[in-house]
Amino acid sequence: MPESTTQPPLTLRMHDRDNVAIVANHGGLAAGTALPGGLVLVDRVPQGHKVALVPIPAHAPVLRYGTTIGLARQDIAAGSWVHERLLAMPDACGLDGLPLATIQPEPLPPLAGYTFEGYRNADGSVGTRNILAITQTVQCVAGVADFAVKRIKAELLPQFSNVDDVVALAHGYGCGVAIDAPDAIVPIRTLRNISLNPNFGGEVMVVSLGCEKLQPERLLPPGSFNIVDQRHSTDAAAAAGADASAQAPLDVVCLQDDAHIGFMAMVEAIMRQAERHLVRLNARRRVTVPASELVVGVQCGGSDAFSGVTANPAVGFCTDLLVRSGASVMFSEVTEVRDGIAQLTARAATPEVAQAMIREMAWYDAYLQRGGSDRSANTTPGNKQGGLSNIVEKAMGSIVKSGSAPISNVLAPGEKLRAKGLTYAATPASDFICGTLQLAAGMNLHVFTTGRGTPYGLAAVPVIKVATRTDLARRWHDLMDVNAGTITDGTTSIEDVGWALFHLMLEVASGRKKTWAEHWQLHNPLVLFNPAPIT
Ligand code: CA
Repeated sequence: MPESTTQPPLTLRMHDRDNVAIVANHGGLAAGTALPGGLVLVDRVPQGHKVALVPIPAHAPVLRYGTTIGLARQDIAAGSWVHERLLAMPDACGLDGLPLATIQPEPLPPLAGYTFEGYRNADGSVGTRNILAITQTVQCVAGVADFAVKRIKAELLPQFSNVDDVVALAHGYGCGVAIDAPDAIVPIRTLRNISLNPNFGGEVMVVSLGCEKLQPERLLPPGSFNIVDQRHSTDAAAAAGADASAQAPLDVVCLQDDAHIGFMAMVEAIMRQAERHLVRLNARRRVTVPASELVVGVQCGGSDAFSGVTANPAVGFCTDLLVRSGASVMFSEVTEVRDGIAQLTARAATPEVAQAMIREMAWYDAYLQRGGSDRSANTTPGNKQGGLSNIVEKAMGSIVKSGSAPISNVLAPGEKLRAKGLTYAATPASDFICGTLQLAAGMNLHVFTTGRGTPYGLAAVPVIKVATRTDLARRWHDLMDVNAGTITDGTTSIEDVGWALFHLMLEVASGRKKTWAEHWQLHNPLVLFNPAPIT
């Protein structure tokens, strides 16, 4: 821990009411260290962990972010390390009597003139990448689809230089599931809406087994997808008196089809099908579009006590820039906002939006309760090692990713985005499930903050990763795209990092820059949220 001896002791207090501050120094601070205000540490306090600024009597609240993050289990002397074992977690606040749209902030001033180069789709959405996706109705076909994708990448993709990638949308759903259970709508609409993600250009192709519960027509019923049959939408169709925008039939290769004699017949059918879509995708070109076409999903993972001090506030500042530009931003992760629900319902644009948020929280409370659990199941050993004592403290740091704009819309898990502005997309906090559900909502760019460090990436959208600490950004120099640790180093401000992130988003969205996860092709598999029973 050489740096703690060279840097003056630095503690960070988030709010005037706080009776604790966190130690910022790399390596922590030794017992006996005198802080600039004169307080002397009674214990060694690790980096990111809390020190009592005043004596805290037993049963008194411990305050960080101006919020009670716990009650002292015993008397805590000033200068002590306030570790998680000294804190009793407060009960979750009830969902009755919450403030509904009580804060009506001045509208944020519009931000005009920012653009990026994107792929405009027939349905009006815009892709940041040009990718052929292979939708699958059931896990059974994943191996065959994967085999075909390897051949497509080796034999076909090099002929289509404007197409970025071919992605198999493998998943664990489709059969052996209670498909008529009410909650089955969650995984089904998730898969449907992922197929329609803007980065796939509306070129939906499906590989099906044949006997599965999730039949292709159930996954993508007529009318659910907005694909124009470009093979028949020209003069011939007009001459025939047909509606030029008639919907094409769903393009499906069914492996159990009698026509397939042997494995290679299946692979070749998928390749022939893929080639037709690649031809059309390859004809697409990037065009200049306003920044309002960005659909950004923000989330955090591997959080630490700096998440709420550096990276998440910088993302929150950038969220405001995006909303001011007319773009769409989603924040998510139910258990990581549950303890801040009163802040969020107050910030809702209308009482209806606030009620929708409460409905999602209540659904999730019941879901956890059914499993004999509650919100305290969130927080990992790494979170705690990074200084986060419990989910209340974690939530206060997580929620700031949402910035300050009014919350104008709420999505249930797996739903597609309906409006621009700031949306609360209810998802579990699990990184892979949150990312999968934000993909379904239609994100074309993902921002991910981390303090402990995660190499997370997705095949379908660029993931910009933001480190909370300079130490992480230095060690993981070829995995982290932005270092927000400079905020506590004193060399940048939250605003500086927020603006830098905004400019980087436009570069990445335009394809002029690749994220580190794209560079190394780090792709976490899709993970569906299936709250319904398995048979
Ligand atoms: Ca997460």
